[in-house]
Amino acid sequence: MTDLYARHKAVLPDWLALYYEDPIEITHGEGRHVWDAQGKKYLDFFGGILTTMTAHALPEVTKAVSEQAGRIIHTSTLYLNRPMVDLAERIAQLSGIPDARVFFTTSGTEANDTALMLATAYRQSNQILAMRNSYHGRSFSAVGITGNKSWSPTSLSPLQTLYVHGGVRTRGPYAGLSDAEFIAACVEDLKDLLGHIRPPAALIAEPIQGVGGFTTPPDGLYAAFREVLDEHGILWISDEVQTGWGRTGDHFWGWQAHAAAGPPDMLTFAKGIGNGMSIGGVVARAEIMNCLDSNSISTFGGSPVTMAAGLANLTYLLEHDLQGNARRVGGLLIERLRAIAAQLDGVREVRGRGLMIGVELVRPGSDEANPRGASAVLEAAREQGLLIGKGGGHNTSALRIAPPLSLTVAEAEEGAAMLERALRCAQ
Ligand code: PLP
Repeated sequence: MTDLYARHKAVLPDWLALYYEDPIEITHGEGRHVWDAQGKKYLDFFGGILTTMTAHALPEVTKAVSEQAGRIIHTSTLYLNRPMVDLAERIAQLSGIPDARVFFTTSGTEANDTALMLATAYRQSNQILAMRNSYHGRSFSAVGITGNKSWSPTSLSPLQTLYVHGGVRTRGPYAGLSDAEFIAACVEDLKDLLGHIRPPAALIAEPIQGVGGFTTPPDGLYAAFREVLDEHGILWISDEVQTGWGRTGDHFWGWQAHAAAGPPDMLTFAKGIGNGMSIGGVVARAEIMNCLDSNSISTFGGSPVTMAAGLANLTYLLEHDLQGNARRVGGLLIERLRAIAAQLDGVREVRGRGLMIGVELVRPGSDEANPRGASAVLEAAREQGLLIGKGGGHNTSALRIAPPLSLTVAEAEEGAAMLERALRCAQ
């Protein structure tokens, strides 16, 4: 155990998730690579934790941050804040939500918390619909709507949550159904649930479940849900914390894979927009956002330094068409990983879109989840010089691949080769 790890264990909570038996201290990064304290170089196939959206140490972002920090780091949203208004305008326009208002927070959790507060106030109900296997953050209300209970450290919650099917298809009663059958079964489940209760305030859902192992529903699922929700006056909140900003390649937002439903009533974002600076937020129609009749503030939400980072990062992303890159390079990577998986006994499925790719592991020769195998592959990949993630909860058997969106074809091939060796080593 390194000295830093011993000190970490002595002072930080036991429940703070940490990867690897011998955890890595990362000291610096550049592009799609990071280096540890011993000087070992890694290809970062997890983009921090989907936070490094464009590239590590992107000069444009570093420059914007240091220039803004040189002027002023923080005052307060009690005063007018130009970078905050600039970024809010760009996000409102990109969101697809009509008459959009944006509220900035410092995390995805706080963004979801705010969306829940708005939905419950707007609809005067403290019931929420959430998806099984979902993850929405770690505040008291966010854990209360997190279906992936291994990431929900308390079962007490101020909200009443009802869980809906629509994610996992690799096992259980929904396995083996066609896309259309799966959607029909999930819609029936939702209708059945709503037949017995007063309408909840909202349904919150990740278009592709992140912590749940990049579990990807068929296109159109939320459009089908939306019809039912509309009949009952239930709002739709799309949690885009992992799926936003072009990561899924085909779409700028995850909800657009269900575009027949039109935009959601609210979307929440965080992770990649600041390229690692702590920005989260909610976008909502004005009538919903403004339904609160008391004053509110987030002391650090909208801080000028983070807003400057977000603006520079978003500008780079759009000017360099990183969404298009995610589609092209992600498409090649998915194909390559499917070809590798076809030769191996222990890979059940390669799923996802763009640069959000899940690799579901099973015990060879069975359909049983293989969380130990996933941990072994993580360790073996690290030896190869490749960082990847894994899915949480009952889906710890999924590897998660989400590199910065500037990944090159050569890096995708190099990473796929390293992952293939790791999968073979760990079998
Ligand atoms: N929502 C989703 C979909 C997430 O993946 C996460 C974090 O992983 C959150 C919300 C919470 O975000 P944060 O960790 O920034 O509070």
